[in-house]
Amino acid sequence: MKRMGLFGLMGMAAVMLLSFPVAALAAEDVSTEADEPAVTDSSSGMVYEAEDALCIGNVHTDTSAEGFEGTGYVTGFSEEGDACTFTISVDTDGFYDLNFVSASMGGYKENYVIVDGENLGTVAIEEESFSDSVMKRAYLSAGAHEVTYSEYWGWVVLDRLEVTPSEALDTSIYDVSATLVNENATDNAKRLMSYLADNYGSSILSGQYSENGQYGKEFTVVYRETGKYPAILGLDFIEYSPSRAENGSTSNATEYAIQFWENGGIVTFCWHWNAPSKYLTSEWYNGFYVEGTNIDLAAIMNGEDEEGYQLLLEDIAAIAEQLLILQDAGVPVLWRPLHEASGGWFWWGASGAEAYKQLYILLYEQLTDVYGLNNLIWVWNGQDADWYPGDEYVDIIGEDIYPGERVYTSQVDTYLQAVNYTSPAKMVVLSENGCVFDPELAVRDGAMWGFWCTWGGEFVAKSMAIYAYNDTYTESEMLVKAYESDVVITLDELPDLTTYTIRD
Ligand code: CA
Repeated sequence: MKRMGLFGLMGMAAVMLLSFPVAALAAEDVSTEADEPAVTDSSSGMVYEAEDALCIGNVHTDTSAEGFEGTGYVTGFSEEGDACTFTISVDTDGFYDLNFVSASMGGYKENYVIVDGENLGTVAIEEESFSDSVMKRAYLSAGAHEVTYSEYWGWVVLDRLEVTPSEALDTSIYDVSATLVNENATDNAKRLMSYLADNYGSSILSGQYSENGQYGKEFTVVYRETGKYPAILGLDFIEYSPSRAENGSTSNATEYAIQFWENGGIVTFCWHWNAPSKYLTSEWYNGFYVEGTNIDLAAIMNGEDEEGYQLLLEDIAAIAEQLLILQDAGVPVLWRPLHEASGGWFWWGASGAEAYKQLYILLYEQLTDVYGLNNLIWVWNGQDADWYPGDEYVDIIGEDIYPGERVYTSQVDTYLQAVNYTSPAKMVVLSENGCVFDPELAVRDGAMWGFWCTWGGEFVAKSMAIYAYNDTYTESEMLVKAYESDVVITLDELPDLTTYTIRD
């Protein structure tokens, strides 16, 4: 689960960095006509200057930084509602790359792209001189469209929008290997991966987090709303963390996983790893957030905190015990540890990519080599190429996306970004989401996520004792459409995964 409130803090941090270098760029030779400055035809596509676009809120034109094209650029993206809207036009229906040539005012920033009122997700910029920031494969019908660049983290300057036809999608990205990285993987793990690989590119498995299992709140409301159960049950080892168990936490997640597997389903686990008690600085139950701990992962992984290293091994042992119960019961697990690391809100991501990768590999080696866990399909969820631990530790790549409320776009840009973390491409899944995307748009865009797995609580259920569907994030009609879609696989459509043919 991603904690969205933190993005506000990142914006605040950027306030300190108002002076920024924008180096002169080698400007392309773009011809302009004096009377019609809003749009320019270049060899690569159409160019629309931000200073000629409709800007609202705090957004205004400036010329003090170097490297812009046209007559200026816009600045002032500092609070919700600050936006710049381009009216563009394309000749033919199809996919277009939207390049928001921009510069950061200090570090990595993400801002929203909205086309004709539909939020397509975010584009990122880290460079502090005007650089490309591309939203890939936006579908546009022939004619005029409104493309809005809107404040999310803010703290960028925007020079222009370049619109170019997208390259054809390389469908070989769906031909993923079914061979697991652990050569001692159990037959049931191999069967599950074979099934996922066989279906990848043509269908999408439905998934839902539900902390009380198949008969828990979230599964129940989805079933009542759609008449179907999700194919995948998402669970969390959080309450097995020793520093929570010490405070009285208990969990039946392992038993719920076995039950769902025996009912023909697939299980995935994350682990909100509550840091060892020694490192907790506020309420013990916040011990997975950076702000609830003072753990220095880099020091531990560098050998400067040997006690800390031993404490982490003890925590790993506690989770291994649960995974061994699942292995003994024949349950393969889509295992997604150390999630959303690059976001920096969880302690395992707070010491940077190197320490995180060392911990990820330690965890892999402990569970695989020391505990002999061969029922795991390793879902890496670091969400940044620099945090990728290596092909030998990753079976599947997961992205977590919370685009807001009732946003049904396929998130194809993030999908393709994840596809390109490594080559040849691994399977890419939407390991957590708020809204459920429209499967029709996923097919159209080629964003064939192997599965989705909606987070629990408010994302589907109202917070009351009586189980009721909460349509704040996904309207009932869209949920039904998704669960009834021909390309979406629900629990009743899964084959017998204990006899499924293992792919060579
Ligand atoms: Ca400009």
